[in-house]
Amino acid sequence: MIRRPPPGRPYGESRESALKQTPMGRLSKNAIVAGGAATFQRIFTRLGCLGKPPEFSVEFYPYAGLTHTVRVRNETAHVRVSDVLRGAPTAVIEGIAAILLARLYKRRAPVEMQLDYRSFAATALMSSRMQRLRKRRARNRGTVSRGRWHDLNMLYDRLNAAYFGGEMRRPSLAWSVRAWRRQLGCFDGALGQILLNRRLDREDVPEFAVEYVLYHEMLHQKHPLRLVAHCRLQSHSPAFRREERRYAHYQRAARFLKRLR
Ligand SMILES: [Zn+2]
Repeated sequence: MIRRPPPGRPYGESRESALKQTPMGRLSKNAIVAGGAATFQRIFTRLGCLGKPPEFSVEFYPYAGLTHTVRVRNETAHVRVSDVLRGAPTAVIEGIAAILLARLYKRRAPVEMQLDYRSFAATALMSSRMQRLRKRRARNRGTVSRGRWHDLNMLYDRLNAAYFGGEMRRPSLAWSVRAWRRQLGCFDGALGQILLNRRLDREDVPEFAVEYVLYHEMLHQKHPLRLVAHCRLQSHSPAFRREERRYAHYQRAARFLKRLR
């Protein structure tokens, strides 16, 4: 990257806390677990729970992880299943029913009833975490490579041909959603993405200045230190600096960017 972003910035990750606080009863219809109530009735019987079974209301709920809850009120058992398990087969819902009802009625849930749940849950949790992470990152980051004034894909290909023998693989290129205060560009090795500060996508910013910032990030792509995620500060070795000066308009671009407001 060029220049350091202020701490905690520039992406300002938002969390889905609003969803977590949705009060009971305000969930939309599509949150209902299909066949969930019948499954819970069945497991209630199979575990030999005593007394009259409650009515079951079984819904998916956007818990952050693998949390499932049951609360009995007015002869209705309100079950919330983590929506990480959306699309899970019946055997998995049976496993959750066994675990929750066993806890509620002080019964023992046979291990074999939980097996499908345990294995499904581990995989589902992993992939849902990855998905959320990717979505959040994508949302907070760039838009398209073609800006109002400068087209990053075109510039990348040209630089690639001129300085890298065409051997660089073009990553995803984008302009930042918002203008950053200090950082001009960044290469995120973990995501395989180069972002440039939207502030550079202006008529009064000459192409050589944009190109220089892009060239700099391409050097980071060429010489990855490690996987640098979230555009953290990357160091520049003397060799890196030497290579950077190979850019034809290096002096001019550096001078221009120094004055840029
Ligand atoms: Zn850098």
